[in-house]
Amino acid sequence: MSAPEERYSDALAAAARHARQWLESQETRHVGPRVTAADLAADFGGPLPRTGMPAAEVIDYLATKAEPGLMAMPSGRFFGWVIGGTLPAALAADWLVSAWDQNAGLRFATPATAAIEEAAGAWLLQLLGLPAESDVGFATGATMANFTGLAAARWRLLSDAGWDLDADGLAGAPKIHCFVGRERHDTIDLGLRYLGLGRPTVVPADRQGRIDPAELDCALDRATTSGSASGGPPGGGAGGSGPAPLLVCLQAGNLHSGGFDPFLAAIAVAKAHGAWVHVDGAFGLWAAAVPELSALTAGLQGADSWGTDAHKTLNVPYDCGIAVVRDAQALRSAMGVQTSYLIHDADGAADPFEKVPELSRRARGVPVWAALKSLGREGVVAQVRGLVRRAGELAEKLSVLDGVEVLNDVDYTQVSLAFGDDATTRAVTARIIADGRVWMSGSRWQDRDILRISVSNWSTDDADVAAAVAAVRDAVAAVRGRPS
Ligand SMILES: *Cc1c(COP(=O)(O)O)cnc(C)c1O
Repeated sequence: MSAPEERYSDALAAAARHARQWLESQETRHVGPRVTAADLAADFGGPLPRTGMPAAEVIDYLATKAEPGLMAMPSGRFFGWVIGGTLPAALAADWLVSAWDQNAGLRFATPATAAIEEAAGAWLLQLLGLPAESDVGFATGATMANFTGLAAARWRLLSDAGWDLDADGLAGAPKIHCFVGRERHDTIDLGLRYLGLGRPTVVPADRQGRIDPAELDCALDRATTSGSASGGPPGGGAGGSGPAPLLVCLQAGNLHSGGFDPFLAAIAVAKAHGAWVHVDGAFGLWAAAVPELSALTAGLQGADSWGTDAHKTLNVPYDCGIAVVRDAQALRSAMGVQTSYLIHDADGAADPFEKVPELSRRARGVPVWAALKSLGREGVVAQVRGLVRRAGELAEKLSVLDGVEVLNDVDYTQVSLAFGDDATTRAVTARIIADGRVWMSGSRWQDRDILRISVSNWSTDDADVAAAVAAVRDAVAAVRGRPS
């Protein structure tokens, strides 16, 4: 029987070997998986084994059997959805986080991870130009980061309306009117649903999917006047006395166009009505770090809460979303737990669990710290700038091909394409995926089937851009040359 430390070392050595092989294969492998989940069911499933297997053998088995079913998402030739790769420092830090196995919820119990995450949070505020007094929480992804911001909003809006949410719940509470742009991400609706806030009012947007501030103004006017005319007691519910609670959700980075809502105008309108403003900046918030992109994010700092992903544009491993909330009291009231067994740190600073939905969790902010430490401000700026530049190059090179139409203004990292009618676009998309040199996702945008390219990987280089152009060109030629 080997000593415990040797049992770790065999398994870790096996994992490191397989991880290196996987990462080294990214440059050349077929990007898509070659088998389905059903194909793999027999390898991983069947009856639960009666006896065990040595750890290193488990890792060998796992890596070997999984390999054909993996997608080369860390590859520079992966352009699907909005999916980042992984920076070396962030990946290695993530391994350490697992080895450390710190339950990162309590500051006094795991001071190192708390200090690292606090530093990462402060760096993010500096990098993105967000208010220095904001609380920063590390959640699983932007869905939960947005949920966190919206939960703080709900607490503050109801509290200001004289309603004790913690004691009395939502039944009978003043209604919170929620507003979203037509092309917000669907997970915003999900967050509102989790919070019992119901379906939002949808505000029209322009061709790039950016909310129309004048329409937002009208929608807010309508809600405030009809609310006081027909909504029962002032404020809409028992004990309500303040203005009608309003929540406006804006977006930095539209999934299809990469478009940014006009923050200066939209936030001015929202604030004139006393609304809380939340910004979903899952991949777009990072534009705020880049001086020449400042027109896209101007005014964004005037919001109350922001959600973003570190696992997209920053390129840390899954899962890592970030919630930023200016009103720390609202956030901690919405998320915190007050019990006797959770001992706060002597210095009275807020605990990590007061800023996110989870109590026990991994120290997922540590890879963020490692990414920021390895890149520095200049490195982050160069990384985001590089993604935007490559997206522009792709759009330029593809737009000159016969039969290719670029549908969006390529200001950021997204390029949406069509190839004539929907059937042709779908055929080209299927062809590109089968070809395997690159991977791009099909989608539907503004009543058209499209092919969407997202440049979100730090390692995407000139050769990857050339491969993408060649793959699209060849697919178009094959589909058009196809005998009908
Ligand atoms: C990806 C994305 C989300 C959801 O983020 P997850 O990390 O998948 O939870 C929300 N909004 C936008 C704009 C996104 O791109």
